[in-house]
Amino acid sequence: MTQQFDVVVIGAGPGGYVAAIKAAQLGLKTACIEKYQDKQGKVALGGTCLNVGCIPSKALLDSSWKYHEALSGFKVHGIEAKGVTMDVPAMVGRKDVIVKNLTGGVATLFKANGVTLLEGQARLLANKQVEITALDGSVSVVAAENVILAVGSVPSTIPPAPVDQDVIVDSTGALDFQAVPKKLCVIGAGVIGLELGSVWARLGAEVTVLEALDKFLPAADEQVAKEAYKTLSKQGLNIRMGARVTGTEIKKKQVTVSFVDAEGDQSLTFDKLIVAVGRRPITNELLAVDSGVKLDERGFIFVDDHCKTSAPGVYAIGDVVRGPMLAHKASEEGIMVAERIAGHKAQMNYDLIPSVIYTHPEIAWVGKSEQTLKTEGVAVNVGVFPFAASGRAMAANDTGGFVKVIADAETDRVLGVHVIGPGAAELVQQGAIGMEFGTSAEDIGMMVFSHPTLSEALHEAALAVNGHAIHIANRKKR
Ligand code: FAD
Ligand code: AMP
Repeated sequence: MTQQFDVVVIGAGPGGYVAAIKAAQLGLKTACIEKYQDKQGKVALGGTCLNVGCIPSKALLDSSWKYHEALSGFKVHGIEAKGVTMDVPAMVGRKDVIVKNLTGGVATLFKANGVTLLEGQARLLANKQVEITALDGSVSVVAAENVILAVGSVPSTIPPAPVDQDVIVDSTGALDFQAVPKKLCVIGAGVIGLELGSVWARLGAEVTVLEALDKFLPAADEQVAKEAYKTLSKQGLNIRMGARVTGTEIKKKQVTVSFVDAEGDQSLTFDKLIVAVGRRPITNELLAVDSGVKLDERGFIFVDDHCKTSAPGVYAIGDVVRGPMLAHKASEEGIMVAERIAGHKAQMNYDLIPSVIYTHPEIAWVGKSEQTLKTEGVAVNVGVFPFAASGRAMAANDTGGFVKVIADAETDRVLGVHVIGPGAAELVQQGAIGMEFGTSAEDIGMMVFSHPTLSEALHEAALAVNGHAIHIANRKKR
């Protein structure tokens, strides 16, 4: 007999597993289907984010930063560290343990919340029926009142650089190098390319980043992007803008990368090449011809503001639908959809999804950039506070970057918070909380901030919006 559920979720990434837990918490009989197998061939939950994305990349970023600090950041504190070495397999092994703990934790949460896990590859049929091909090849069908498609994305590829996961790798392969490549090339100066390039540069690789666009980090505030380019270049990342990769050739475990830039045809040879040119949604083999689910012109599943697809009772969330490909966006969509299925009137504020790049310094923002607001014709006041003037940043010997607060010139409402510097991700979240409540720059300025903290830089930047900063000279006097 066909098993029947209130909700069937396809995919157990941060979109799907969160949606499944929330639906179960709301009293709905819920199943979640997942196909991903870990290195031991066991089905692992958590999706891209936990297995080969957010978490493992941050584990390597943290390890490599500690190594870098031990080599070159201790001296200023009077600490002499001699004979510092890096055991790459141990670093990668630590990352694997963290991944295992977290993915196992999701399985425990499923049990605790009564979510039924169904292992295998799912395909959506007509009338909210879902076909599951188990790992042993057996096929079964479950039926649902509601289906949530949370199948995520995979790394994009480009014809000139076919991935072999040996010399030419994607982001997944770049998390598992067993030794530091002497010369490393990264195609794509996006978030993933910069983070992975930073990991291996800190460990001693000579890193070249080739980026087809002329503009660095086009989604970031221009002032922040400029500072980021300067700082990352100083750290040794050779970021070549306007460089479009046109071909690769592997010979004797080395890869020669051909590219075109303003100076014409070029080629360089490397030990490893990471292809980090973005991600694409996974929809092939997911939808039966009569599933009723339509794709948009870019191949994403077409959804409305509440993640409803064109098939009644079928929803889609996360990387497989429009919007930023971020774990927290996927999770919040999962919560919204579960609540709406349970009859609540949940909404999601797509205007306030924070973005973070976990380089050092971190780069993070929420809301609009100064250039976007300018294009939209919005008059703004801007307050900037450099970490060079922060006592806490000086104590930590981490004074690069600044906090920038942008407020509407007429209403003083904060429209954007942009940070490059220590703790950027956490500081921007404070801005996001304020902005969600419609804060003005003056509101933030009137609050008491602990001293000495990095957060004081946000306080001072908010004060600077109206010329009231205390610890820097104000550009604008009031
Ligand atoms: P996914 O996490 O991709 O999960 C989808 C799941 O569905 C997968 O487990 C897949 O196996 C399963 N699936 C697919 N098809 C089927 C099927 N037919 N049947 C059964 N199961 C199926 N985001 C951040 O917010 N912060 C970060 O710091 C960050 N760092 C990243 C670093 C890297 C290197 C990468 C690659 C990504 C990073 N991301 C980060 C992006 C983040 O991982 C994704 O935005 C997020 O995982 C999307 O969640 P999702 O649930 O939509 O999809
Ligand atoms: P993101 O989508 O943020 O991960 O960034 C991927 C980056 O890769 C984008 O900035 C693209 O411009 C860049 N890119 C894509 N194809 C190429 C190519 N052939 N050569 C160089 N850069 C590329």
